[in-house]
Amino acid sequence: MIDVKRVADAASAAVIESFSQLNRYLSFAPISSDPNAAGRLRELAKTLRDDLEAIGMSNARVLELEGAHPCVAAEWMKAGPNAPTVLVYGHFDVQPVAGEAWDTPPHSIVRKGDRLYGRGSADDMGGWLSHLVAIKSYFKEANGLPCNLKLLLEGEEEIGSPNLERFMDAYPDAFESDAMVLTDCENPSPEIPGITVSLRGLLEIEVAVESAKSDVHSGLWGNVVPDPAVTLVALLARLVDDDGRLKLARREIDPAWLQSSHDVPMTERVIRAGARLLEGVNPLPNRGLSPAAWAWREPAVTILSTTLPVPGTEKNAIRKSASAKLSIRIAPGQTPKELFEAIRAELTQQVPGGLTIKINQLEGGSSSWDYVAEGPAFDAADRAYEAAWGRKPLRIGIGGSIPFVALFGKRFSRLPLVLNGVIDPETGAHGPNESMHIGVYEKTVTANVHLYAELAKALAKG
Ligand SMILES: [Zn+2]
Repeated sequence: MIDVKRVADAASAAVIESFSQLNRYLSFAPISSDPNAAGRLRELAKTLRDDLEAIGMSNARVLELEGAHPCVAAEWMKAGPNAPTVLVYGHFDVQPVAGEAWDTPPHSIVRKGDRLYGRGSADDMGGWLSHLVAIKSYFKEANGLPCNLKLLLEGEEEIGSPNLERFMDAYPDAFESDAMVLTDCENPSPEIPGITVSLRGLLEIEVAVESAKSDVHSGLWGNVVPDPAVTLVALLARLVDDDGRLKLARREIDPAWLQSSHDVPMTERVIRAGARLLEGVNPLPNRGLSPAAWAWREPAVTILSTTLPVPGTEKNAIRKSASAKLSIRIAPGQTPKELFEAIRAELTQQVPGGLTIKINQLEGGSSSWDYVAEGPAFDAADRAYEAAWGRKPLRIGIGGSIPFVALFGKRFSRLPLVLNGVIDPETGAHGPNESMHIGVYEKTVTANVHLYAELAKALAKG
């Protein structure tokens, strides 16, 4: 019988010494978007393989595919056939730092107060390192884990996981499991843990308005023929309410969810600081919802670009055409098609002067994800977090799109997917001075210790 408390204490005591390991991984500067960093990513992959073998994992290997940065996989399958197999996913690549003003050298760990600064500290090296510390403590204190465990570390998450599905096809065994813990997500605050259960999707469309075969004199024809530029602006304004929020295809928010979303500390102060608002500018009014509901559960629109005349090209003419590219964040559970149809219907009715309107869906985009985090695996996660954090994790959403999550959701929808991580609102992932909160990291390390034990009990077979 494993003494989980003892393992958790040992893992907690091992947190400080893991900082030098974090520093070592981070110093590879494994920037997946930089073609010159490919060799460094490969070196880091080999280092991770060797380190995983050294702590006692089996079958540690670098997974390769033509034209892709590698993945690293390892496993420990000695908990027996009745024990569940838990897959832990993380990514070892990081975002670029070029052009950013860092206060510390970005590719090494610098401790200031209760935070560790460095590119990749929280996104996502601290995420999977928190598992390595937990695993190592189990091997040291208990000679094994309570469940079978597979580790899969990706090297391309920060460029949108373009080959992850190919890795799933080429190495199905590396993913085969009974539950998945995906460690690249956020906690609402250093005191409140989170499990992510929804993502908004993304749709990009182009709206083009055309009137004539050429530009014409605005003095001769103004007030007589329609102006595509003005019409475009008026059409775009149709999409939003008086607050500037997309008013089409709004979702009903579950009252129970809405109630609990008020626990998310997205206060006016947090919004002001996080969104870098100017003095005197206010967050949009809540209108009966919470900021979290608006950010995570409702669709939103942003103008990406327009062909409206730019400064320096002024002339007294009515332009023959105007167009705009829009980005639409799709609410969890909505499809791109649903949003596209709603927008097309709104923009093509009663067009002034019968101007020609063309609406196209652009390449790319991604699905939304809406997940019900219920069942034995999530009860297990609640107990594990309660033991480590002193409270259950909040079910939270993410307003953006994470391709790997949508992909796991699509491929492994029948499995429990536990999305956690060591990011908090002050982490500043993808920007300068990224940091990880040491308390969050330590609590995540011990939560992982409890999570393996709780999942082993909750998902035991036979
Ligand atoms: Zn990440």
